[in-house]
Amino acid sequence: MLNLQKIKKTYKVGDSEVAALNGVSVKFRDSEFVAILGPSGSGKTTLLNIVGGLDRYDSGDLIINSRSTKEYKDKDWDSYRNHSIGFVFQNYNLITHQSVLANVELALTLSGVGKDERRRRAKEALEKVGLGDQLNKKPTQLSGGQMQRVAIARALINDPDILLADEPTGALDSDTSEQIMELIREISKDRLVIMVTHNPEIAERYASRIINIKDGKICHDSNPYTASESGAAASAKSKTNKTSMGFKTALSLSFNNLLTKKGRTLITSFAGSIGIIGIALILALSNGMRTYISSIERDTLASYPITIEAESYDIMQLLGMKSESDINAAEHDSDKIYKRPVLQNSAADLKFKAQKNDTGRFKQYVEQNMAALEPLCTDIKYGYDIDLQIFKSDTSTKVTRLRPNDALNKFGLLTNSDVWEELVGDADLLEAQYDILEGSWPTNYNEVVLFLDENNEIDDVTFYALGLADIRELNYVQNNASQNSQAVVELEGYGYDDFVGLTFKLVPSSAYYQKDGDVWVDMSEDYGYMKNVVDSAQELKIVAVARPKPNAQSVVDGGTVGYMSGLTESIMNVANSSEIVKQQVANPKVDVLTGLPFEETDTTYEDNMKLFGAADPDTPASISLYPKDFASKEKIVEFIEEYNNIQISEGREDSTITYTDYVNLVMSSITQVIDLVTYALIAFVAISLIVSSIMIGIITYISVLERTKEIGILRSIGASKKDISRVFNSETIIVGLASGLMGILSTLLLTVPINAVVNSLAGIPKIAVLPFWGGVLLIAISVALTLIAGLIPSRVAAKKDPVKALRSE
Ligand code: ADP
Ligand code: MG
Repeated sequence: MLNLQKIKKTYKVGDSEVAALNGVSVKFRDSEFVAILGPSGSGKTTLLNIVGGLDRYDSGDLIINSRSTKEYKDKDWDSYRNHSIGFVFQNYNLITHQSVLANVELALTLSGVGKDERRRRAKEALEKVGLGDQLNKKPTQLSGGQMQRVAIARALINDPDILLADEPTGALDSDTSEQIMELIREISKDRLVIMVTHNPEIAERYASRIINIKDGKICHDSNPYTASESGAAASAKSKTNKTSMGFKTALSLSFNNLLTKKGRTLITSFAGSIGIIGIALILALSNGMRTYISSIERDTLASYPITIEAESYDIMQLLGMKSESDINAAEHDSDKIYKRPVLQNSAADLKFKAQKNDTGRFKQYVEQNMAALEPLCTDIKYGYDIDLQIFKSDTSTKVTRLRPNDALNKFGLLTNSDVWEELVGDADLLEAQYDILEGSWPTNYNEVVLFLDENNEIDDVTFYALGLADIRELNYVQNNASQNSQAVVELEGYGYDDFVGLTFKLVPSSAYYQKDGDVWVDMSEDYGYMKNVVDSAQELKIVAVARPKPNAQSVVDGGTVGYMSGLTESIMNVANSSEIVKQQVANPKVDVLTGLPFEETDTTYEDNMKLFGAADPDTPASISLYPKDFASKEKIVEFIEEYNNIQISEGREDSTITYTDYVNLVMSSITQVIDLVTYALIAFVAISLIVSSIMIGIITYISVLERTKEIGILRSIGASKKDISRVFNSETIIVGLASGLMGILSTLLLTVPINAVVNSLAGIPKIAVLPFWGGVLLIAISVALTLIAGLIPSRVAAKKDPVKALRSE
């Protein structure tokens, strides 16, 4: 039972106050049809809104089922509106972007009824008001009478105790009005109906009780509630269930609303997505670059080992060497000439910065710990300061030294005339990288492979270096056609099998010398002597012609001859055991070539040893570790570091080694630059994200203004303030999600042509690859930013006075 006690309500308009209700006291029965009659502006709507909990009274009390509402909280009012009250308005107040069915369902949604039951009950209610066949129409497609029926169905869906109708037929013609009134009378049979009208005829015909109101006061009541009825009224039950809009409802409300303005939503989302596209592209590019760089790093590892040299320079330190010209400029007289000691200084600097590595000790360590190191390396190589002496096999007319090649070395500055290279790695690695065109892989020290490049070419340098043609031919070409570049021509008369079987001779340098009394004489210019030496020397034989596989990373530059690892050491051992070396070792103070002490000559002991092709196998000039893969490389570095730590802990700081990791040296600085550029660009593009967030905030605010009426409607059927802000938050979430998805999708589409173009221009296959986490993160950022941008507008919406909101158009 409803009991109003001295209810007063005044509205402030500017400085003046309007008393809408001026002490209204009235009791309503649980079931009756009350018509409230009165002239316009007398306070009828205000009374109805206060009874319906849509508006608050200033003083007095509204007692609902014996409970004063003075203590009511927001959520009590929300629940009261949702469960106990059904509102019907003159102008229907339907949500135009939702279907008839959805409009009716809405109140049930707010009270948390499950989907299937919601649908069933909404259909039932609509069938009751005669609209069973109009479920999926939009309100705007219905007539006024039909819309009011929808409104009545919505009001009744929660089976409320009280139906409040504010001039429900005010906008309808008389026939339709009659139907609606019949419907309301039917409803009033088992509940309280309070209907505002200014039509006395209708009031007389349908209502069981007429209350006249004037100037905010009741002036006549045709059937007032009497004290004797009070016993029967106690039975009324109180409904105080919670109401709350599910997040899904909020999303679907907003989604449908956004669908009604597809164009704007699309443009908003697109504008929002531009910042996302910018950042996503930068991320994709930097990610692609980094992946590309590490792939290069990986691929080049095979050819760029970690190298420990007996004497090395710290590259970074060298790069740091500064020119002093800037400092000097200030001190010089402008009319004099100065000489700057560039050569002297850098030579001194180099000497100063040269670092000696104890390769002997490290070699020992490597050999002791081979079990740990071997699984990490494709190959471990010791380099010695020895030039292989290779001769043409044919000595019939003259002896021709092919390596070092004096004739070719004349062009040394222009070409790399050394075509002899040691094979890196094991048989498996070689077979993975190369196709054998003829013959089979070498299995012996004296067997070598000829590598063609991927186009089956060898360059003329190789041709001369192998002694297949006379170098004088080249001179001829140079003199006569220096201006014209020569074309690649077919090597006529040479099949693969012409190369396989070609032989060379490997001569130890020590063999150049012949003992003559006490001294040794260089016989390398003596044909007879050298013919003998070469003829009896170790034979090298080409046993295979090979070519890199199409996808192999190894590079053959104009043709090379690969010899097996260990060849150098074997020829070095021959030299070491030669008479001349033995004698030199036995008399380290005397030059065996002159018989004089080294002090009196220009040479040194070391010079001589080098000249004779001798070297100490235990102290290599370089140790090269070829990592299997990137992870192995890091472990190898750890291995070296551990070695250094041991040296330090055992007090041998001098034995620590420095190594050069060329790949890392170049790549890490490139990666650093890429990172820097990436961050700078992202910071720059982030501004556009902020701009688009502000824009989305403004657009959400506009949406709030546009949907003011809807806010009022939602509040009238029991939506809480929280529900309202949820509706707008979900709208911004949808927009944020749309711009995020749009941005990521556009980026993914953009990367396709970008990758195609870069691949065709630079040969980098995938320069732009958006990382998965990046895409997800950016979508999340987009949602978060728009949500934040929409927070203020959605609060504004939640705080809107429902009564005013309903009045707005
Ligand atoms: P009725 O429905 O009987 O036509 P109302 O209840 O709408 O009358 O209004 C009663 C009085 O209160 C009128 O003078 C009206 O101008 C005033 N009033 C109603 N609502 C507001 C409001 N939100 N702000 C200011 N004045 C209002
Ligand atoms: Mg009114």
